[in-house]
Amino acid sequence: MNPVSAGAGERETIPYCDNCDDPAVYFDPRLQRHLCEVHLSQDVERRVIDRLARHGMIHDGDRIAIGLSGGKDSSVLLSILSRVIRERWDAELIAITVDEGIAGYREETIQSAVSLTKRLGISHHIVSFQSLFGTTLDFLLTAHPLRACTACGILRKKALSDAARDISADSIATGHNLSDAAQSVLMNYLRGDFERLLRDSSRREDRGFIRRIKPLLDVHEKEITLYSMVNGITGMLPECPYATTAFRAEVRTLQAGIEYHYPGASLRIIEGQESLSKQAKKTVRPGTVGYCASCGDPCSGHVCQACGLLQNLNK
Ligand SMILES: [Zn+2]
Ligand SMILES: [Zn+2]
Repeated sequence: MNPVSAGAGERETIPYCDNCDDPAVYFDPRLQRHLCEVHLSQDVERRVIDRLARHGMIHDGDRIAIGLSGGKDSSVLLSILSRVIRERWDAELIAITVDEGIAGYREETIQSAVSLTKRLGISHHIVSFQSLFGTTLDFLLTAHPLRACTACGILRKKALSDAARDISADSIATGHNLSDAAQSVLMNYLRGDFERLLRDSSRREDRGFIRRIKPLLDVHEKEITLYSMVNGITGMLPECPYATTAFRAEVRTLQAGIEYHYPGASLRIIEGQESLSKQAKKTVRPGTVGYCASCGDPCSGHVCQACGLLQNLNK
């Protein structure tokens, strides 16, 4: 395998790892270093452990629900967490897969999630849009003019929260990575969505939501792909058929380009957003928090986003 960099495209081929005599599979442009399969894997795991410890994300006795789509991010997260937790904490890990009902895509990723949880000995729950909301995403999108990723994101979040609450989870771990997080900040800027941009996600807990943890937030998407490949975690999986139409797909190209030319930019984008939300916390009064009139989830309006979406469809 030729070394790849964290940015878009390949850098010069320099065949050996900076830490040992093995061939390099990765060039890290920010730290200007080459890593072999073993040292890349160790480095990714170290960053996950550092983040877990630095933010006090796991406590003894915790029951942690992990959102396992079956794609590479959540599969790598499950694989790393299952080992790290066994070694360091007395906590329980339970995988939850949400089946949105996307024909030609979901069957294969669910199969991949099932075989991974079996291999790791992790208990696994599968919940579906059909059983929770009485419809599949495919059907929703043919019957209503909705933005696929927005509608799916709202309903998937609700499905995962409900399933986590059903198993009395203390936290929900998701596979969001550094590239995803930088893209989300850029998307909020480009949409002019300052409410989201200034939102402090740590406040969600105070509002009655289950704590959410993102242990892969210091790892680039490309590093996760490589980690998955060299450790045999997932095979080739289909892309979500709706992903290509998304605004995020364009922003991903933009973010990858910026990261390639200015290594470390993604990290600075996220740090910038964190300072903004801290500043905003001092000056902006928090909105009033109520509970959804339909499902009882904490929310700022009369009903939560998921119930609002479903009610609009039934009108
Ligand atoms: Zn090495
Ligand atoms: Zn609701």
